[in-house]
Amino acid sequence: MESLISKLAIDSLFPRFCLGCHAEGTLWCLTCSINWWPAPVRFGCPFCGKGSLQFVCVDCKGESFLDGLSVFVHYGNPVVREAINQWKYIGDKTVNDILFRWIVRAAPALQPPFSQPVFAPVPLHRFKCRARGFDQAGVLADWCGQIYNQPVFDLLVRTRQTASQAQKSHEVRKLGELDGLFCINPQAIEIPEEVVLCDDVFTSGATMDAAARCLKDNGVKRVWGLVIAKGNL
Ligand SMILES: [Zn+2]
Ligand SMILES: [Zn+2]
Repeated sequence: MESLISKLAIDSLFPRFCLGCHAEGTLWCLTCSINWWPAPVRFGCPFCGKGSLQFVCVDCKGESFLDGLSVFVHYGNPVVREAINQWKYIGDKTVNDILFRWIVRAAPALQPPFSQPVFAPVPLHRFKCRARGFDQAGVLADWCGQIYNQPVFDLLVRTRQTASQAQKSHEVRKLGELDGLFCINPQAIEIPEEVVLCDDVFTSGATMDAAARCLKDNGVKRVWGLVIAKGNL
């Protein structure tokens, strides 16, 4: 009873609107949960868009470390963009359940082409993680481990904070500004052959590629990426 009262009090202070249809009262209404589903993402090289596969193309292969990417939705999708913003910046844990259900439903399409992968987050710097209260990439990696019944390890540690602008540029990858951004977690017991890196959003891919590089430099053979949304630059 007490929790119901406090819930009503919170709802009246912060009225909620459906992410899909903006109806007041709930973050995800029954109608939207039945009818809404995003348009499928067009396959193509995660870095240049060429081709019709999720694999990194031959042209980009020479200068990148990631082998391919599974994407739930394009970041331009307003429903998913708003969900990610509320999840990440407002820290709304209710969005957790909504996103989890989407990922469960999309799981067959997102399945990485590896037989025995280990799922690992692209970690935030610990200061940022502390400020935000949770690491959304870690949450996504945990979901994937659960959904695909595979292990989840915190294989990487982020060594420094980067300006978010720096991560958006295509060029930083080539300039090496993100070199050494990640190192292997000293607590990692073994290095798996296949790793699927999880993150919420992929834009230029510079950050994820820096993570993939660290893994490959340390003996991982194949690295796939799995993200909720892929944006344009
Ligand atoms: Zn709705
Ligand atoms: Zn390419």
